[in-house]
Amino acid sequence: MDLTELYQSVILDNNRRPRNFRKLPTANRVASGNNPVCGDEVTVYVQIEGDRIADISFQGAGCAISQASTSVMTQRLKGKTVAEAEALFGRFKDIVTQGTPDEEDLDLSAFAGVHQFPARIKCATLGWHAALQAIHGEAATVTTE
Ligand code: ZN
Repeated sequence: MDLTELYQSVILDNNRRPRNFRKLPTANRVASGNNPVCGDEVTVYVQIEGDRIADISFQGAGCAISQASTSVMTQRLKGKTVAEAEALFGRFKDIVTQGTPDEEDLDLSAFAGVHQFPARIKCATLGWHAALQAIHGEAATVTTE
């Protein structure tokens, strides 16, 4: 299996079996996002304790890229501080806009191919934008438009 196939399998697996796909009863922050061009929707639930993301989950519907990237995002942000979450989103944005995978970071790098399809960058970052909105307590619906 070459690296491209490995990346594909991360996306397919997270789309088929999204992680943390549920409402979070203990959430104290919620934000939704939508990407009308593609028809993607996500709602991200966050339980913030101090400056740490104690728990995070999501629900949504849409293309494989949007749902898989949100699934990966919840796995990566759980337990992180707000500053760590922002740094990780910065890294993910670099990967999907510049197509520069970090082989040490397989699940984020799985989305590097997205940079060849600028419209799909919005799919890949939708869940992250919603999560950061929720974390910052900006209770608004984010849209990629
Ligand atoms: Zn999409």
